[in-house]
Amino acid sequence: MALIVQKYGGTSVGTVEKIENVAEKVIATRDAGHAVVVVVSAMSGETNRLIGMAKQITAQPEAREYDVLVSTGEQVTIALLSMALNKRGYPARSYTGSQVRILTDSAHTRARILDIDESRMRVDLDAGRVVVVAGFQGRDEQGNITTLGRGGSDTTAVALAAALKADECQIYTDVDGVYTTDPRVVHDARRLNCITFDEMLEMASLGSKVLQIRAVEFAGKYNVRLRVLSSFVEGAGTLITFEDDEMEQPVISGIAFNRDEAKLTILGVPDEPGTAYAILGAIGDANIEIDMIIQNVAADSTTDFTFTVHRNDYDRALMILEQTAKALNAREVSGDKAIVKISLVGVGMRSHAGVASKMFKTLADEGINIRMISTSEIKISVVVEEKYLELGVRALHSAFNLAEAPAA
Ligand code: ADP
Ligand code: ASP
Ligand code: MG
Repeated sequence: MALIVQKYGGTSVGTVEKIENVAEKVIATRDAGHAVVVVVSAMSGETNRLIGMAKQITAQPEAREYDVLVSTGEQVTIALLSMALNKRGYPARSYTGSQVRILTDSAHTRARILDIDESRMRVDLDAGRVVVVAGFQGRDEQGNITTLGRGGSDTTAVALAAALKADECQIYTDVDGVYTTDPRVVHDARRLNCITFDEMLEMASLGSKVLQIRAVEFAGKYNVRLRVLSSFVEGAGTLITFEDDEMEQPVISGIAFNRDEAKLTILGVPDEPGTAYAILGAIGDANIEIDMIIQNVAADSTTDFTFTVHRNDYDRALMILEQTAKALNAREVSGDKAIVKISLVGVGMRSHAGVASKMFKTLADEGINIRMISTSEIKISVVVEEKYLELGVRALHSAFNLAEAPAA
């Protein structure tokens, strides 16, 4: 008998009928002789609806109250799923994150899990019950409700699997695995049978929301066997694997993109020690995360800085940058929200030259101007105008032959 943690995302529990379908899938796993812990998201659209109501009251809701509000979506689905299981004669009990003592830090809206007390779940599992846990939420040391950031139910599932030393953590969603790129954008995107942790981490951090990045980090750290599958069609899905030196790695495994970025530029700042700190330090002090950074080579005694932030932080970052510009006597501040980042990811890039030039040529042939570039060992990212997102991703997908399985 194995212990399986299954997570069902928003679309998979989007209606009462779909929740009944999830119950059937859980039962199939129980009937195969396994113990099951289920993590569910809120019904699709529900978390956005709750955030929308908060925004009607205030543009900047207190983080503590925001968490109390948005954590309610998951409380609905755990109860409904447990009812559906009990009705079918499979005893189940639902728990909020707080009830199974998912302890987090106090960073409301993006809390990190510190500890989980698995003893309460063990009692139920030993009694043959299915344990149904609300995703996305926990509680801090003081007992305040916290949430784990958008997409956080993935992380709840992996953290529970780690705490319970589960045999596998299965993430059920509306696609049947991890693809070479978002199948909604590229129709001949190909499902991967497996992808390495390093690649999945890059894909997630570069915008592929099929798995929350913290879930992948957690799985890598605690050695959790992690698989992405469909709630609606049968199949083996995609297994996230540790890198195998014996295996020939494809040069490029996938293409990720992020529509959530915005770009800011400050022109004509003094080219002297302390300038980068004055500009970026002020942004960091406001708790705004910076992604890419470019400093131009100084032409006279001045230079320019460009950096990207999350689009939600754009207005705040612009305000801070305007203050810095005054203090530094800078020439000008400008910004652009209509940009996207497209990234090629692959561990095989480490040993292959020429990936960057092929990427740049492909974009040039489509008439797409590259605004920023950044690279690491296993990825190359470019920032381009938003209107070129689909064209750019499709062109790269075909230039790197990602639709075809690499020869075995
Ligand atoms: P859930 O509600 O189940 O958590 P999400 O919407 O968070 O589902 O994640 C699934 C979605 O991720 C898919 O519908 C797909 O559009 C998107 N996605 C982005 N990149 C990829 C990729 N490389 N492979 C598969 N899906 C991807
Ligand atoms: N319901 C939360 C969200 O929409 C968490 C999740 O679905 O993973 O972000
Ligand atoms: Mg998700």
